[in-house]
Amino acid sequence: MERQSPEALDRIIQRIDAIEEKRPSHKEVLEFLKEIVTEQYEVKEQIRVEPVDIKEDMVKLKTREGFPLVDKKDLKLDMESGITLFKRLCAVVQKRSDKIADDLKKINEKLDEGELNLEELFEKVVAEDEEYLDATAGKLELNKELVLFLAKNSINPLLEAYADQLKGYVHQKKWWKGYCPICGSKPLIAALRKKEGERFLLCSSCGFEWRFGRMTCPFCGTQERNKHRYFFIEKESKAYRVDVCEKCKKYIKTIDMRELFEDVVLAVEDIGTLHLDIIAQNEGYEREVANILNV
Ligand SMILES: [Zn+2]
Ligand SMILES: [Zn+2]
Repeated sequence: MERQSPEALDRIIQRIDAIEEKRPSHKEVLEFLKEIVTEQYEVKEQIRVEPVDIKEDMVKLKTREGFPLVDKKDLKLDMESGITLFKRLCAVVQKRSDKIADDLKKINEKLDEGELNLEELFEKVVAEDEEYLDATAGKLELNKELVLFLAKNSINPLLEAYADQLKGYVHQKKWWKGYCPICGSKPLIAALRKKEGERFLLCSSCGFEWRFGRMTCPFCGTQERNKHRYFFIEKESKAYRVDVCEKCKKYIKTIDMRELFEDVVLAVEDIGTLHLDIIAQNEGYEREVANILNV
């Protein structure tokens, strides 16, 4: 089975270091990302995936009907690896601030008392069960954003391992949906690739990248030209832009690789451009998928 090579982690760390040099204001958050990614890679080697039985005619049908290859809540997640990672991430996050250390203490208490069940939490987060999360965080008086952040960052590597197994089944030129063809999750960030400027979206859960229309909103699907607008910071590179939709008021950041002559790692670019999130949100646009800013 194909696994991410250790060089992949080196590449991510090199990219983090390069952005830190360019944008020292992002150093703290990028160092935090580095620690998180390092923990994820250390656990990655031991993640188990069950074989998924997929038939080509089913793939065709699902692609045509707009269903992702798998319903992610049906996947058998390697809970043991997920729980290991959750605990390791707690240790990393704890150092961020006194407030977070306090919030984390409460989470750990509820885990010890058995009131917070990680397997159940992971299942509900994969199923995007907002109600469960609201109710649990409310009842146990926990920082919901923090619980979600830890859970998602523990689960994503488990889903990435499945995406590695399934990516060969995706028909890139037949999908064109605003959600992932493998797991159905929303996109984290977009990229315009070299040469033709083909647009790709990066899955916020399994890390897969899929083709998408240049003039379509990934969130509401509108193709009305006058609803699309993008901005970038004049004194920065045009490579980092924010695409906003006037119809649904959502935005997605886009990395224009035609303007960059360096190695790019999309998940890192997302954290390296938090200043653009702040501008977009101040202008009244909403981000669909949460990031580190919410913790
Ligand atoms: Zn996905
Ligand atoms: Zn929209």
